[in-house]
Parts: sequence; structure tokens; C-alpha cells
Amino acid sequence: MALCFAASLINPQTQDPGLFVRVNQEKRAFLFDCGNIEKLGKKNIQYVSLVFISHTHIDHFIGFDLVLRYNIGLNKTLKIFGPPQIAEQVQHKILSYNWNLLTPDNANFLVYEIHEHEIKEYSLYSAEFYRKLHLREVIERKDSAIYHEKKFSVFSACLDHKTPSLAYSLREKDVWRVDKEKLDNFPHPPGAWLKELKEAVIESSQEDTLFLEIEEKEYSLTDLKNELLLKLTGQKICYVTDTIYNGKTASAILDLALDSDLFFCECHFADEDLEKATDTFHLTTSQAGELGRKAKAKKLIGFHYSSKYTYQQQSMMKQELRMAFSKKN
Ligand SMILES: [Zn+2]
Ligand SMILES: [Zn+2]
Repeated sequence: MALCFAASLINPQTQDPGLFVRVNQEKRAFLFDCGNIEKLGKKNIQYVSLVFISHTHIDHFIGFDLVLRYNIGLNKTLKIFGPPQIAEQVQHKILSYNWNLLTPDNANFLVYEIHEHEIKEYSLYSAEFYRKLHLREVIERKDSAIYHEKKFSVFSACLDHKTPSLAYSLREKDVWRVDKEKLDNFPHPPGAWLKELKEAVIESSQEDTLFLEIEEKEYSLTDLKNELLLKLTGQKICYVTDTIYNGKTASAILDLALDSDLFFCECHFADEDLEKATDTFHLTTSQAGELGRKAKAKKLIGFHYSSKYTYQQQSMMKQELRMAFSKKN
């Protein structure tokens, strides 16, 4: 596995929801929701470059103040993704403080509102003391993708929590490594052509038809790939929180979470509180377990257990989750 990311819940399972994803070998991290994020500490919060908000109930958004506090003055642009109205809510949060001592190297914000058919990109500039919210672009959505970088993409699905609640999946791209032993037996010495080969394999979907010249000899990309490269499959991390379980949401979650390596799924209520779960648009442990099983997740991590449950009840909930996850069809 390529393993570019290290993901972990910020708090114990009965406390505020949130996932921290550290980018290996980079001083960078992503946040999926920010309830209370004090446990992360200043340094980790300063690594945050992308923030993905499911919805803005207070337990998912109150920690944004710490994101603000530790990133102001770092001369960076923070990107924030969330449901409709997130741009205004981010602006309101920021404007609730006095910024009269700002200098030009303070943080700027790009906020992306994820709508069903489009993404609206807004900006907030420190130079204007964050007083204006600029609509920069309306990007038409063709699929569930909301963000791309060279090494990964992020996808989103809209769930139902009596308000739109966004689930996210982070998919690392496959990485190709050179098999050193095979390279030693290859008739040409290593050179710039190796980089060219890796780039061509990543970018091309029709490599059968493509060729690469090495020391005036022509090779097909497919042959070179099979002979010299090893594929490390990219990791897939899925974050699902605060949603009712019904046919529509289950199908959207399964589409998003299929074959996840790590599937973080809320299970606010125990099975015996199914009615409460339905009334408050949350999942039960067995519903979360079933989603994990149907999505063929390699590992399912339940979180956002209601704090009303005792330690013993939580153990029982973990058991319910495990049983539903491992149940044979
Ligand atoms: Zn909520
Ligand atoms: Zn919640």
C-alpha cells in the first residue's frame, strides 16, 4: 500500500467528532470536521491546509476557532469545504473577532460550498479584514469528486441529517516504484527515462499504444511497466457522520465508501435506541456495521457515540458494531 496518509480520530469515541489526517513526509494535514480539537495541539493545527466540514452543528464546528487562532499570521491560504451556507458561516466566525492589528501576511481563506450540481468557490482576504465574501467561481460538478491534487482526490456525498450532511472519501493515487533487482538486470542503466516511464504510466490509460525510447531502442510502456515497476495501491479513507439511515443515504454511502481501507462511521445510538436514531437523523451501531460490511471496508471504526451511554453500554455498542460488520450475508 502507498500510505501517504496517517488518519486518526481526534477525540475518544464519545467526545466531539473529527478526523485528523497527517500527510507523511510533509508538514501538512487535513481535518474532517472540527469539534473540540484542543487535543491536536498548536503544531498539528498549524499543519492543517484543508478542512472538510460535514455540517455546522456546534459539535462539528466549534473547533474552527482554534484553526483560526493558530493559522493567522502564517501567510497561508486555508481551503475549507462544506455544505451550502458554509462560506457565510466561516465569514461570521471570522467577523466575530476584531482584526484591527492584521498585517498583510495573515491567513486568507478559500471556501468551497458543495451543492448537488455545482461547487461555489468563495474567498475572504485579510487585506479587506474579511469584510467581503467574493464569489470567485461556480464549478459544475460532473461526479462526486470535489478536489484533486497530484497524489490524491477527495470525493463527497450528501446525506440527510434534517440538514445536508456531507460524507467524504480521500483516495490516494496508486504509486509506481522501480523494482531495483529487475532494474539491475535490465540492459540499460537508470536515467531520466525512469522518471518519464513512471509519469507516463500514471498519466496514461492507454499505455498499450505508447512507446518509450531508451538509448535509441524503443519499448512499449506496458512491457516496461510489467518488467520494471511495482504498483503500490493508494489508500482509501472514508468519513461518514450524522445521517439518517434510509435507502437513499445507504446507497450514497456505499458508493462513496466501497472498498475503503479505513471507514470511519458515526454510530450515535445503540440498537435499542433505533427510534431515537431515526428521530434525530443518526445511525445506530448495527446500521453502521452493516454499511461497513456492505462497503467491504477493510477496517471499520465507529465514533460519535452519544455521551449518555455508560462505559458498559459503550462496550455493548462496540460489540453490536463488530457483529453487524462481520455478519455473513
Ligand atoms: Zn449533527
Ligand atoms: Zn454530531
